[in-house]
Amino acid sequence: MAPAVVAPATTLAPCHLGRVRVLKPASPSRSGPVVYWMFRDQRSANNWALVHAAALAAQSDAPLAVAFCLSHRFLGAHARQLGFMLRGLRHLSGRLAALGLPFFLLRGDAPDTLPGFLSRLGASGLVADFSPLRPVRAWKDSLCERLPAAVAFHEVDAHNVVPVWITSDKLEYSAKTIRPKIHRLLTEYLVEFPQLPPPAVPWIGEAPPEIDWDELIDEVLREAGEVPEVGWCEPGEEAAMEALMGRKDGFLTRRLKHYDSDRNDPMKSRALSGLSPYLHFGQISAQRCALEAWKLRKSCRQSVDTFLEELIVRRELADNFCYYQPHYDSLQGAWEWARKTLIDHAADKREHIYTKEKLEKAETADPLWNASQLEMVYHGKMHGFMRMYWAKKILEWTNGPEEALSIAIYLNDKYELDGRDPSGYVGCMWSICGVHDQGWKERPVFGKIRYMNYAGCKRKFNVDGYIAYVKKLVGETKKRKSDDHTCPAVKRSKT
Ligand SMILES: Cc1cc2nc3c(=O)[nH]c(=O)nc-3n(C[C@H](O)[C@H](O)[C@H](O)COP(=O)(O)OP(=O)(O)OC[C@H]3O[C@@H](n4cnc5c(N)ncnc54)[C@H](O)[C@@H]3O)c2cc1C
Repeated sequence: MAPAVVAPATTLAPCHLGRVRVLKPASPSRSGPVVYWMFRDQRSANNWALVHAAALAAQSDAPLAVAFCLSHRFLGAHARQLGFMLRGLRHLSGRLAALGLPFFLLRGDAPDTLPGFLSRLGASGLVADFSPLRPVRAWKDSLCERLPAAVAFHEVDAHNVVPVWITSDKLEYSAKTIRPKIHRLLTEYLVEFPQLPPPAVPWIGEAPPEIDWDELIDEVLREAGEVPEVGWCEPGEEAAMEALMGRKDGFLTRRLKHYDSDRNDPMKSRALSGLSPYLHFGQISAQRCALEAWKLRKSCRQSVDTFLEELIVRRELADNFCYYQPHYDSLQGAWEWARKTLIDHAADKREHIYTKEKLEKAETADPLWNASQLEMVYHGKMHGFMRMYWAKKILEWTNGPEEALSIAIYLNDKYELDGRDPSGYVGCMWSICGVHDQGWKERPVFGKIRYMNYAGCKRKFNVDGYIAYVKKLVGETKKRKSDDHTCPAVKRSKT
């Protein structure tokens, strides 16, 4: 889907009009409720899609509601990801209620649930947040055809600091090409959020059905199987803000100064922000993180600049790739030079070949790789540096780049709490297919794709220490599981 970038007809301050696209105008216009279909940005604060929906409702003296469509295991989600999301939504529904906004949880995909729901409400407008992923874009295409004629449909990029279609109208080659485009637009887009005003008109329509969250979570998690929830990352908007700037252990309050020097050391995982699960589910806004980090630039310049490079440039480059490259998760999406070199070397003899099952069980001859795989399986978040090594080794140990890529994406999306994200597809494509990278000295198997090896890791960090750290982590996780099936973060999030 590539709808034209059309600014809405009337001014809807205070959300920058560049963030908003009209996917479907309404005819004739009416003043029924406005509904924000929340998908990727699951928060009440710092959310441009909600700000825009509220402005739209206020403009036509209409009430506002929020709807979430619960698909069946979107992109193969497991209990780990679904539990985190649903517990976050439970918190969110309370926060929305405090703002006077009803929250409707609809069971099924958006095109099957929203048209009937909006007809029933007599709605005048639907606002969606933005995702570059294929299934979400297909849903929006389908909604444009299935929505009642009187419902206008707007899309707001509430995830990126600079909206993806404003940053660039094409597939960017690398961080080097997108960086100046983003930086140029920051003064315009990296601005403070307005306070959400109380609803112009109270909700008097159909009341949202009561949600028995415990029952819902039990049911969904039972069906979602296999990969259990993790205990270290408390879901929800408040927990996300605590992770960013909490007094006790917040990233910006307590750990920022080590980010620049230590972020590539897997033995020092606390140097990282740990924000990716919150960013993935939209429980925190990247723009809020950037605004808060910016305030600390005077005292911590190097770390702030490096953090903003990852948070804005690299993350938004991933959205750019998935938005403009329909084959964002296959060899077809690689640049020509990379595809050629990978195909030239696809039949090269490998020292080891492992099946998907062997890799999944961390049964390789490389203890460092096994440790990273186990960190992901048990902890749900592999260290960022290890993710590169991990994916590159899969290229080295499988029957060619296509198989390697599909195994890497399968494992990443199954076990990572932040999986099924544009940054994940691009991370795998960068490691295996050289996307956003340059060609390097040609060598067997990898061709001109950048190579990483065990010896290089040994020079960079304490490999044995990392292996021992993961071993301890796995032991503790297994013990906790056998002692008590409910992890601490999950217990806390029930209250
Ligand atoms: C093979 C591979 C797979 C990956 N899979 C995922 C994934 O499934 N989900 C995911 O969110 N990220 C993924 N990444 C990108 C990156 O490794 C993670 O975003 C990062 O490790 C998350 O931890 P953090 O929030 O503590 O990172 P921090 O270093 O604290 O970074 C802050 C934020 O910046 C962004 N960021 C950091 N590094 C990158 C990067 N290389 N590309 C894009 N954005 C970045 C993330 O939003 C991150 O949360 C992957 C990278 C590789 C090489």
